[in-house]
Amino acid sequence: MTAILRFAPSPTGFIHIGNLRTALFNWLYAKSRGGEFVLRFDDTDQERSTRAFADQIEADLAWIGIKPDRVIRQSDRVARYDEAAERLKSLGLLYPCYETPEELDRKRKRLAARGLPPVYVREALRLSQEEKIALEAEGRKPHWRFLLPNHDGDPTITKRTEVHWDDLVRGPQTVDLASLSDPVLIRADGSYLYTLPSIVDDGEVGVTDIIRGDDHVTNTGVQIPIFEALGLSAPRFGHHNLITTIGGEGLSKRTGSLSIKALQDEGYEPMAVASLATLVGLSGSIVAVRELDTLATRVDLGEVSVSASKFDPAELDRLNEEIVHGLAYADVADRLAELDIPDREREAFWLAVRANCGKVREATFWRDVVYGDLVSGDEPDEDDKAFIDIARERLPEGPVDENTWKAWTSDLKKQTGRKGRSLFMPLRLALTGLGHGPELAALLPLIGRERIVARLGG
Ligand code: GLU
Repeated sequence: MTAILRFAPSPTGFIHIGNLRTALFNWLYAKSRGGEFVLRFDDTDQERSTRAFADQIEADLAWIGIKPDRVIRQSDRVARYDEAAERLKSLGLLYPCYETPEELDRKRKRLAARGLPPVYVREALRLSQEEKIALEAEGRKPHWRFLLPNHDGDPTITKRTEVHWDDLVRGPQTVDLASLSDPVLIRADGSYLYTLPSIVDDGEVGVTDIIRGDDHVTNTGVQIPIFEALGLSAPRFGHHNLITTIGGEGLSKRTGSLSIKALQDEGYEPMAVASLATLVGLSGSIVAVRELDTLATRVDLGEVSVSASKFDPAELDRLNEEIVHGLAYADVADRLAELDIPDREREAFWLAVRANCGKVREATFWRDVVYGDLVSGDEPDEDDKAFIDIARERLPEGPVDENTWKAWTSDLKKQTGRKGRSLFMPLRLALTGLGHGPELAALLPLIGRERIVARLGG
């Protein structure tokens, strides 16, 4: 059977690194099995979902290198959900409730005061037809709950009913349906919560495996009986741990914290973000992986930690740096095209400076060092001044190329007796204005004779 997986965000904000973890686990699992990956927008909440957020999510995934085989929008499929809802109603498994949120809250508080779990005790099932008509005449609109199969025919008497599944991440799981409220599937305004549409879609698309955050474990216990009520076989489930900030706070699409868009805007490389989103909280070390396909070979869902993983910005910086240091010119040519660097020198420039860039955009800094006007630093002392004068005079004739530095400094060593730091540092300071930076052997041809001479006081 072909593996079919999906990532199902609600387009109500920017996806963050935790959402990306879910998307990547599903994508990597599908691709490593020659399967399909579906992007499904859970946009039944018309007020909070927007097309712009959906488009941004697609763009974020494309930036990472994830291209869905299919895109589905729940807002296009409401008729299918209506059919499923009618079916459940005709089976007596979807029933109308008229309590307002305040009434429900009072009920929960009363139960809590008596030391009872805050479970909905199905008062709505006792309403007569006349009572329902009277409530609707008052202007109340019902919301609809699914009757969980946790009883022996009389829903007012519940009994322990275990739902089991073998979780791809957490191993054998059990949820007791008697400990849960009947889930609301349809809101009073007629819109669907994600629960039922998700089941209808997963069934119709033939989703084989659902990998999602462990905040959905209880939902799985609720969704499995709904799959069964609709005559669908439930897919396999896997619930991975969530990512929090370094301070332990949860991430939210609405606040935009650690959004993929923000990380992109801050100049991080997609594979640094993907490596961290995938490998944090696994048993191996977090390494910078350059290709999504390679990442697939490193993920074993059974190894994912069951406690939350912290997102450490310093870790992302480290991974990014490692990726940037190995980026070929072809990988950055587009981005460097905007920098004012002579065409024929671009590649040599990148190869010279990449090991000194934590982000590709730092190339701008080195462009200014090589081609710009140097801000003069501290004046060299008399000795160094004299040395620099000699250096200027003894700059080898002919084109300045990758051999010039070696020839030049060997000669200066002989002439002046200087070596090591006292030989190189005054030259570095004079030529770049800095005490650190890329190899001078590689920079010299880019700085060029004219600027070298000028920077040495000529
Ligand atoms: N839209 C749901 C969410 O973002 C989907 C959950 C699921 O993957 O089933 O939480």
